[in-house]
Amino acid sequence: MSDSARPVILVTGGAGYIGSHACKLLAQAGYLPVTFDNLSTGWTEAVKFGPLVVGDLLDKPALKAVFDHYKPRAVMHFAALSQVGEAAREPGLYWRNNLGGSLNLVEAMVEAGGKDIVFSSTCATYGDQDGVVLTEDSAQQPLNAYGSSKLAVEGVLRDFGTSHGLNAVIFRYFNVAGADPEAEIGEWHKPETHLIPVMIEAAAGAREALLINGQDYPTHDGTCIRDYVHVMDLVDAHLRGLRWLEQGRGSRVFNLGTGVGFSVAEVIRNCHEGTGRNVPHAFGPRRAGDAAALVSGSQRAQHDLGWSAQRSSLKMMIEDAWRWYLTGGYSEQPSQRTVEG
Ligand code: UDP
Repeated sequence: MSDSARPVILVTGGAGYIGSHACKLLAQAGYLPVTFDNLSTGWTEAVKFGPLVVGDLLDKPALKAVFDHYKPRAVMHFAALSQVGEAAREPGLYWRNNLGGSLNLVEAMVEAGGKDIVFSSTCATYGDQDGVVLTEDSAQQPLNAYGSSKLAVEGVLRDFGTSHGLNAVIFRYFNVAGADPEAEIGEWHKPETHLIPVMIEAAAGAREALLINGQDYPTHDGTCIRDYVHVMDLVDAHLRGLRWLEQGRGSRVFNLGTGVGFSVAEVIRNCHEGTGRNVPHAFGPRRAGDAAALVSGSQRAQHDLGWSAQRSSLKMMIEDAWRWYLTGGYSEQPSQRTVEG
């Protein structure tokens, strides 16, 4: 199908990890994903499935121009800063980018007559709740500016729903891992801070050791528990969320996780199965802003969207992340980045 015949989805953060996987799936499903990304952490090489507009969510005229030019049918909003440690150190950065940027986006969208948005929120909006399985109705008590800025955006979407008829599917992600099984795209952060890719780097010998952030949490082995979900499963839910909106079913919040938590030590023990290698590791202090345990109840996504996690075993996530790592990832240096599209 020619580009002009395909419905356009504006994908903020489409040059990043999750956004690029969403673009691949959208293109396979017959949409034209238009990436809007400031390339602060994304890669032009990750934008393979539709045009790239380099721009910043804090630049309202640039947003207006992209809505005027592409007239997207809907928006998928991934662009955000997303590191818990950095958020604990620099809360202002997180509030400005994540809340300020999202507010600009939603205003530009409403001004252009847009109605439907799929938003990446996070389990970090729940905070620490004694290891209970978290449902969409659990209290939201974020521990850091990453979680609180995302929670604030959920509020913006609700208010714009009431006042302007905006429909928002909000996904609260648990821990996203793995890569495109075809290894065309994957997770590539410089520097890397997330557990599974850091573990892969350590297994490959690219870093001396994986430092475990704390061993005195109130969990069965003292390390933090997280619920890991494969990025392909996650973006599959986004496509289902988009169709939910297209069917006029209105705003809805969904958790996305598997319902099963693994401790950091358990993830490390699974490394060999996925990579054939062991991980050199050491114990360090707790990381500021970390909850002891975050595990999702995802019945709502299963029931309403017909979603289920297909690739989210630890083994498959680690295998896919390892396969992607062995490709060498993205080659460009930030200074060599060019504007396309
Ligand atoms: N973690 C760790 N060492 C690392 C990276 C992460 O011990 O080098 C821990 C981190 O403190 C958390 C868990 O692994 O308990 C998952 O962290 P990640 O940054 O991957 O995701 P988050 O839960 O912060 O979204």
